[in-house]
Amino acid sequence: MNKQTIRDIDVRDKRVLVRVDFNVPIKDGKVTDDTRIRAALPTLQALIDGGGKLILMSHLGRPKGKVVESLRLTPVAAKLQELLGRPVAKADDCVGPEAEAAVAKLKDGEVLLLENLRFHPEEEENDPEFARKLASLADLYVNDAFGTAHRAHASTEGVAHYLPAVAGYLMEKELRIMGKALEAPERPFLAILGGAKVSDKIGVIRNLLDKVDTLVVGGGMANTFLLAQGKPVGKSKAEHDRVEDARRLIAKAEEKGVRLVLPTDVVVAKEVTRGAEYKTVPVEKVPASWSIVDVGKASQAAFEAALADARTVFWNGPMGVAEWPNFARGTEGMARALAEARAFTVVGGGDSVAALERTGLADRISHVSTGGGASLEFLEGKELPGVACLADR
Ligand code: ADP
Ligand code: MG
Repeated sequence: MNKQTIRDIDVRDKRVLVRVDFNVPIKDGKVTDDTRIRAALPTLQALIDGGGKLILMSHLGRPKGKVVESLRLTPVAAKLQELLGRPVAKADDCVGPEAEAAVAKLKDGEVLLLENLRFHPEEEENDPEFARKLASLADLYVNDAFGTAHRAHASTEGVAHYLPAVAGYLMEKELRIMGKALEAPERPFLAILGGAKVSDKIGVIRNLLDKVDTLVVGGGMANTFLLAQGKPVGKSKAEHDRVEDARRLIAKAEEKGVRLVLPTDVVVAKEVTRGAEYKTVPVEKVPASWSIVDVGKASQAAFEAALADARTVFWNGPMGVAEWPNFARGTEGMARALAEARAFTVVGGGDSVAALERTGLADRISHVSTGGGASLEFLEGKELPGVACLADR
């Protein structure tokens, strides 16, 4: 990685403003999944050990620029305190007199969590004055929030104009692993894409076609590819205005010598509802009034065969409507195949990671990305604003 990290700076006696991604699920005042908090611990521990005064900032949910009581970061401070095994102070605002007073009290190695950044509309507007106010709390800036690095907000990009700015360990790890997959993967390199729509991911598919040896397409997005091949998709979710794009992607795969693997059989349901009647059919035989909701067993076997000799695998997007157990088998099968593969395996994407975690196999994947949108924009080959603003090595 060509950016400076916390390894390159001395934080002793310094106030360090750290952007973390503590956008975690909360129920009844308790954090229900602390994965993202735990992911930031190596950076926080290193800064504590280095003798810095830690000022942490994050967003939580979508308060749309107003104070929303249920979106305060108080439960997050409690969880962080438990995980760090040391006190974590909490301010009820992220800028202004209250935040300044809390910062003034910090001693070396102590930790303060500022209030939800998005209580201020200026955060998402990347307002320079708001960014300057945040920056005025500290001497150094560390961005460890890979999950929001694709957004140019005051806390992810703006502050870097006012303070020396470096990457934290989580940010560094994400960029190193995803960067290697894109630039110098062990081959064969296999990408598996699924999820709702082709339109969400055209840029990713296009960019990956320059990099991979094999591309597997499943999930709702495969329907648009099936249409492009003249196959019937019944009442399935498909993007008829994207069929031409799918055709172009098929042509690009051919031209680049990339093997494109599409479903050959699918699970179809009478309704896309939880308990609906369903059956497996070949892709040529999708009934007119049914919807494709998952990939079939033959498709799964073909996908697994493509995995067998791969050395690097990237997976984004569920293979079906994985929220419902009957239609989650293709996605679960894929999770199992990745867990058992000898390849270096990377999984990214909000719904993909959620589905992977439901299988209990996440710890058998080489790298589970903490960035949904950010990992996709990175794979599209876009420069992330929250990374671009950091000091070059
Ligand atoms: P990620 O968040 O991992 O990038 P997406 O958001 O692109 O993934 O896709 C996840 C969504 O795609 C899920 O809500 C899932 O129900 C939906 N989906 C997957 N396959 C189908 C399908 N065949 N028909 C309708 N929706 C589907
Ligand atoms: Mg999603």
